[in-house]
Amino acid sequence: MDSEYFVGNFQLINTLRFDAVVVGGGGAGLRAALQLADEGLKVAVLSKVFPTRSHTVAAQGGIAAALGNVSGDNWLWHMYDTIKGSDYLGDQDAIEFMCKNAAKAIIELEHFGMPFDRLDNGKIFQRPFGGMTQNFGESAISRTCAVADRTGHAMLHTLYQRNVQANTNFFIEWLALDLVRDAEGTVLGVTALEIETGEVTLFEAKTTLFATGGAGRIFEASTNAFINTGDGLGLAARAGIPLQDMEFWQFHPTGVLGAGVLITEGVRGEGGYLVNSEGERFMERYAPTAKDLASRDVVSRAIATEVKQGRGVGINKDAVYLKLDHLGEDKIKARLPGIRDIAMTFASVDPAKDPIPVVPTAHYMMGGIPTNLHGQVVVPNQDGIDEPVQGLYAVGECACVSVHGANRLGSNSLLDLVVFGRAAGEQMAKDARQTSHKPLPADAGSATLARLNRLDNQKQGERVAEVGASLRKTMQTHCGVFRFPDLLKEGVSEIAEVVRRAQFTEIKDHNKVFNTARVEALELDNLVEVALATMGTAEARTESRGAHCREDFAARDDENWLKHSLYFRDGNRLAYKPVRLQPLTVDSFPLKARVY
Ligand SMILES: Cc1cc2nc3c(=O)[nH]c(=O)nc-3n(C[C@H](O)[C@H](O)[C@H](O)COP(=O)(O)OP(=O)(O)OC[C@H]3O[C@@H](n4cnc5c(N)ncnc54)[C@H](O)[C@@H]3O)c2cc1C
Repeated sequence: MDSEYFVGNFQLINTLRFDAVVVGGGGAGLRAALQLADEGLKVAVLSKVFPTRSHTVAAQGGIAAALGNVSGDNWLWHMYDTIKGSDYLGDQDAIEFMCKNAAKAIIELEHFGMPFDRLDNGKIFQRPFGGMTQNFGESAISRTCAVADRTGHAMLHTLYQRNVQANTNFFIEWLALDLVRDAEGTVLGVTALEIETGEVTLFEAKTTLFATGGAGRIFEASTNAFINTGDGLGLAARAGIPLQDMEFWQFHPTGVLGAGVLITEGVRGEGGYLVNSEGERFMERYAPTAKDLASRDVVSRAIATEVKQGRGVGINKDAVYLKLDHLGEDKIKARLPGIRDIAMTFASVDPAKDPIPVVPTAHYMMGGIPTNLHGQVVVPNQDGIDEPVQGLYAVGECACVSVHGANRLGSNSLLDLVVFGRAAGEQMAKDARQTSHKPLPADAGSATLARLNRLDNQKQGERVAEVGASLRKTMQTHCGVFRFPDLLKEGVSEIAEVVRRAQFTEIKDHNKVFNTARVEALELDNLVEVALATMGTAEARTESRGAHCREDFAARDDENWLKHSLYFRDGNRLAYKPVRLQPLTVDSFPLKARVY
């Protein structure tokens, strides 16, 4: 091996030009890319893993739409449930757009070839999910379309195949590193590292889309894949773009004890329920109507409370049981085969016979890069009015449009990906047709090269893994299901220290061979931005709303806090903007107490 290679003198090797560059090959990126390719634009999709290994592949339970195949349904009921689920922090115009377009999006996926499960009458199968109700909260409804417990897998493969057919250009195992902006702030593309060769290329684009997914890896216990490191958020924050509502993280009630692997809410939708060490079905006390199918934040807090009060199960009494043996082996095998595998592999129990020990586990990031309904990234101007950043778009879990507000309802994320993925693709196609490539600034790519060269020349720094472990431990301890004032305060300074340490990480020469250590170091730069934004906004928000639950401010405070937070990296600055309470065509849903 040529030792020169390791000295770390990175250069821009190449520049490639596209109408559109999509960073991310998950459900959101692939839906947008398909739109662009179908409209005849030259589109590149960059993905740090093979596209069908994106986290979307792990989505189990399903995708929501008011099809009414099992019982009557109405998109307005879905809209109401989503607004209530968001604890009124969701923007009602965006929620209307998503719920109204949901049925169309499902039919479109079906026509793309997605193999949905069927009812006996041939219509698409639907199952109940948490917080999904009929007639504005009356009783549970079956609204979630599914492909067994592998819905994301089916969706991602379907979209990938359509993109191959549409001649989308894939750059597989490429890591996007930094945004390129000119003096006016227009986004002109991204720099990226080809992981296999270590070469750096500038992707010049009229339109650049972030669809980089979540960042659950800021927590120790997470249902997220190792690749979910919030890269889009890090790139945006470093380029001066604010991050919205980062204090809101969803903890899924049912991660397998010890492993964190997800057991879908679909299990409770099919009739499974939670019990404590006394065998009590405790959700009846916390949510008398919805019980085990209350919203996720409600169920997670109930579990944490049962454990705190000494009614936990397991060696450390820190879990509760998810019971589903009463569903019968046949139903479990037909509707929940993947769950049975997961339970046997990670908890050593066969759920057809024994209950699964589960704990709340970090699952979904409600916040993200602020966008409008067309996927355009927006930043408030001096008068506080949102204005699009020219050339930049975001969609999927990395974006905040905001349909999930302070708490997402299960099966609304896959829907968000396809509805807004298509909308973003349409907007980008329109914009790309109307603009030409602008000249690149003379220093394009220099920030990336400085970062890479710093890493390669750093001697005697800490290992990336050590700093990453400190980051995850700090977030888990200081910013979890319940948030305590002293812990939050300490968390802010601990995270600042982690950020300082992250600037001096070292990768040993022998670890540079396959670029994996380098990739982890570059991902840490992004995790750090997400953690900083989360801790800062969580400490500042002195109320409890949705997934953000403070011990010292237990109630929702609409008078002072019915607003979105914006975190600006420069100067660690926070700003706020109003929630959009006015839907597009229907009446606004008034604020109410949120009970299930
Ligand atoms: C275990 C699990 C189960 C879930 N189940 C459901 C469910 O049943 N229903 C539901 O609605 N939601 C579910 N969710 C949530 C939902 O699956 C995700 O929010 C959604 O799939 C995210 O899609 P995405 O396209 O935004 O990102 P992802 O699918 O995560 O894709 C991100 C893409 O970005 C790429 N990328 C990231 N950074 C870079 C970079 N720097 N350079 C190049 N490429 C990059 C990755 O390679 C990947 O292709 C689940 C989530 C988890 C973790």
